[in-house]
Amino acid sequence: MDELNKRERLKELYFKIKDCDKCELSKSRTKFVFGSGSACAEIMLVGEAPGKNEDLQGLPFVGQAGKLLDELLGSIGYKRSEVFIANVLKCRPPGNRDPKVDEVNICKGYLMEQIKIIDPKIICTMGRYSTQLLLNTDRGINGLRGRVYKMDNRIIMPINHPAAALYTPSRMDILRQDFQKIKNLIDSGGDLSCVNNEALNPENEVKTYKENKNEQLGLF
Ligand code: SF4
Repeated sequence: MDELNKRERLKELYFKIKDCDKCELSKSRTKFVFGSGSACAEIMLVGEAPGKNEDLQGLPFVGQAGKLLDELLGSIGYKRSEVFIANVLKCRPPGNRDPKVDEVNICKGYLMEQIKIIDPKIICTMGRYSTQLLLNTDRGINGLRGRVYKMDNRIIMPINHPAAALYTPSRMDILRQDFQKIKNLIDSGGDLSCVNNEALNPENEVKTYKENKNEQLGLF
């Protein structure tokens, strides 16, 4: 699909779902948050759900976590406009509570449609919810982050959510290291041997793969 087509298809999707009222979050949201960035992005970053600022502005990652994300992207030579940023949920859970299972199940089709249209080479799942959804696992983020998985011919790399790293220096260090791994992956054109190996721990392998199609490429 060429760039124009992708943009048109994303626009169509936006107009189709922007007034969605399929779950209770439609009643409490201020603005629907579709996501933003390039329709032809090679990298897509997927968080959990809009927070307070995102809900007010209708854009993803606009608060402190967004500033950090911009800085991290800059550190690997990318602008926000060159990637696509989205969330699992398109509407803010009240009080920033965790997404409910039924909300994720109802909303996830929109994210899957975005991924299908944009067709990124790499998806960075930021935090537990997007990681568990896209790797179809119930394992925690700590055992999965920084590793590289393959799903439907694209790379999935779970990383910590920037909001979780803001006030925890150790998590910030890990996040910066993981962004360097992303850069290495991009520079290598997806050659996973370029990524520094960490101790292999079979306990941390993903055991369940979506429709048995996913294949873990390496443990990092
Ligand atoms: S969270 Fe998703 S399913 Fe629920 S109202 Fe918003 S767009 Fe619709």
